[in-house]
Amino acid sequence: MLKRNQNSANLKAGYLFPEIARRRREFATSHPEARLISLGVGNTTEPLPPHICAGLARGATMLGAAESYSGYMDEGLPALRKRINAVFYDNKHAIDEIFISDGAKCDIGRLQLLFGSDVHVAVQDPSYPVYVDGSVLVGAAGGATANGYAGISYLPCTAENDYFPDLSKIESNSLIYFCSPNNPTGAAATKAQLQSLVAAALKTGSLIIFDAAYSEYIRDRALPKTIFDIEGADSCALEVNSFSKSAGFTGVRLGWTVVPKKLKFAGGESVNADWSRVMSTIFNGASNIAQSGGLAALSDTGLKEIKALTDFYLGNAALIRGALEKLNISCVGGDNSPYIWAHFPKQDSWSMFERILEKCHVVTTPGSGFGPAGESFIRFSAFGRRSDVEEACVRLADFKAPK
Ligand code: PLP
Repeated sequence: MLKRNQNSANLKAGYLFPEIARRRREFATSHPEARLISLGVGNTTEPLPPHICAGLARGATMLGAAESYSGYMDEGLPALRKRINAVFYDNKHAIDEIFISDGAKCDIGRLQLLFGSDVHVAVQDPSYPVYVDGSVLVGAAGGATANGYAGISYLPCTAENDYFPDLSKIESNSLIYFCSPNNPTGAAATKAQLQSLVAAALKTGSLIIFDAAYSEYIRDRALPKTIFDIEGADSCALEVNSFSKSAGFTGVRLGWTVVPKKLKFAGGESVNADWSRVMSTIFNGASNIAQSGGLAALSDTGLKEIKALTDFYLGNAALIRGALEKLNISCVGGDNSPYIWAHFPKQDSWSMFERILEKCHVVTTPGSGFGPAGESFIRFSAFGRRSDVEEACVRLADFKAPK
């Protein structure tokens, strides 16, 4: 018999969302009369808008004709890479710095292969669980401790620091995961904050994996939508992004990663060249159908549809935040992000999760699942049907948070 990979054994109990699903099932079984509403996971709910959907259908039709058939497309459809460069980056990148993928999460997992098990990892605390769990899987996290992993620097993001970490805690030569607008806190970093992040990375010889999966939710024009708006970022950062939360492609699967050629390892080797090698070795390109949908999404009409879709979810977010604030629960997020981060001082996150489930029949996400600094917070997701969100807000109106 083969021995289990010790890195898998080091993963802490159940990934957060399966655990929520398990508790939800258990509650539903013992309360068959309850109509549960989920404001828990970040899964999109609205149908694809017509122009974007037609782009996907066109992609499928093209595969059925000899003149337009296509097979493997390696780093991605050139037209899509060009359009991403134009729409998101003002054409500042070379086309071979943009790699099309099957989504941001998949790229985050693969990116770890670039740095191996010796790298020191720093994460915002709380953060999207894949940064930590992906590090554990490649053996870069060190041993498990009561609150996390010994080899990872957790950079607390709390009300006291306006949900932006103390950058002086970043060790030399760290791999820094940074997400803005943030999942789960909903906080979007300002230009000055991102300038200080880039300065800290340059000073410590660190590399930033910037996760911009929610950039299309930014409405405040002063907030940067990409790390590459910051001078110097192309020497210390790469960026992952996705069509999931903007165009509703959670089930279609399409994303991209920008790896500037200026980005180098300690020995001067090109990070871009290694990423190209990793991608061509263990990935065979995103679906051509999805890429046709992506092109439609980035056309002028598609971008209007993305704006309407993200406006819709932001409308949900405003309703949820309004309902919580009526209860005097202090919240951040929901304005430039689809997540609302609600504070229940001195309360345990999983107990609050259970209490909201029991009293309101609403499924949320306990903040502690995103890292130690998430304790006593609950994340409310704005991804839901409008009627469900309205009903959830009515039920929340009667909620009494324990003092
Ligand atoms: N990055 C963040 C911060 C996310 O919250 C998510 C999904 O919830 C992803 C990436 C995953 O994106 P994709 O669907 O492109 O894999």
